[in-house]
Amino acid sequence: MKFFLVVLFLYTSVFALDFSVGENGKSLDDNNTVLIFGGIQGDEPGGFHAASLLLSDYNITKGKIIVAPNLAFDSIIKRSRGNNGDLNRKFASISPKDPDYKTIERIKKLILLPEVSMVINLHDGWGFYKPTYVDALQNPKRWGNSSVIDTSEINASKYPDLENIATQTVNSVNSSLADPKHAYHLKNTKTQELGDTEMLKALTYFVISHHKAAFANEASKNLPVNLRAYYHLLAIENYLKTAGIEFTRDFELTPEGVKEAINRELEVKLFDDRILLSLKNPRKTIKYLPFPVNKELNYNTSNELTAVIADGSSFFVQYGNRFQTRIYPEYLEFSDPFDEVAIKADQKDLIVHFGTKVKVKENFFIPSIKGVRVNIIGFDHGKDESNIFVHKKDMQQAYSLDMAGKIYRVEFYELRWANLQQLLENTTDAKLIKKAKILDPSILKAAKTKDKFIGSILVEFE
Ligand SMILES: [Zn+2]
Repeated sequence: MKFFLVVLFLYTSVFALDFSVGENGKSLDDNNTVLIFGGIQGDEPGGFHAASLLLSDYNITKGKIIVAPNLAFDSIIKRSRGNNGDLNRKFASISPKDPDYKTIERIKKLILLPEVSMVINLHDGWGFYKPTYVDALQNPKRWGNSSVIDTSEINASKYPDLENIATQTVNSVNSSLADPKHAYHLKNTKTQELGDTEMLKALTYFVISHHKAAFANEASKNLPVNLRAYYHLLAIENYLKTAGIEFTRDFELTPEGVKEAINRELEVKLFDDRILLSLKNPRKTIKYLPFPVNKELNYNTSNELTAVIADGSSFFVQYGNRFQTRIYPEYLEFSDPFDEVAIKADQKDLIVHFGTKVKVKENFFIPSIKGVRVNIIGFDHGKDESNIFVHKKDMQQAYSLDMAGKIYRVEFYELRWANLQQLLENTTDAKLIKKAKILDPSILKAAKTKDKFIGSILVEFE
């Protein structure tokens, strides 16, 4: 899945996480790009997971989509609706002093891109919208499981007929319901006709005011997250079909297929890909993880909902609303004499790049390297643990990354005196860990006495 990450701008809020923008596919220069937003409210995981999957697990084969899956990223991480009030009520006017000002400006800029002709905003709302009153959970005031439009028709060169398109989407979703009770309905808020003061301030009204099609898709907060994302994706796929955009997908579009895709092993690569954290039911803490005193604290993740957050003297990894693990760093000088290592896995010779994982059935063996020591975390055989066949039974499970006791870190250190020749620096496209605490001079001083960290790999036993 190819997509480009455009991360940018510094501004202050809780963790100061900027939302991501990913592109998938290639424009045919026909101004037919579909723009999809998730996470405008931080407590709506159905929408932000569905949007994130469009970047991680879809391949657009004809046409182009732009996806911003995590608009209120700070609120997503904090599991709150909106840290600075509701982001979706700031489109009519916003003070430059509002902490969300830059975010709103970035969203508007995406909407106003000439290539964009259709915008879909994903929400999770309470209950189930029904045109007539059924009960407290199912009635005209509820939002869940509805396709929302601001008006039936707009003045636009492409897709002016919002009501027909949304109705067709409702029918399409309803042909794949997990339960007939989940039936979708069309909700026309008639924003302008009724002078709906709340909806006039929302994202979709901003879009149609600029003569572009806008649809909000609502899944129900009364459904599990995978089912919400499933309904969002059913709707999105129909909108893409309407726009003539074609795609392939890495999972089956069923509630179970979506669940597996959302719960897939996460990857976090730290410090120019020197360290991989492969998070599959991870332990709640990771201790003594090498952190550089002489490099920037950057990272990359396998999806756009994952972030590494500085929190006092530790860090934590969060995936959407879900906490993953807390990292306690050991600060070290980093050295860069090589970026891959030769190892034996089950007697086979392999070249393994730092920041990757090797699967092992029986055992592995790290040949020794001059001037370098090997530290296998959870294997207690002295200062240098190269030139030893290591079996799973030799490992202390408490040191594995995962609760299952299968995944272990293998770290490579340059001995203090070795003075190895350095590789040329190559820069990667990475995000920065924001607001990391300034280090105490004693930590910097201690780092100068320790061996230098080069890189690490992971070994996963069967
Ligand atoms: Zn919402």
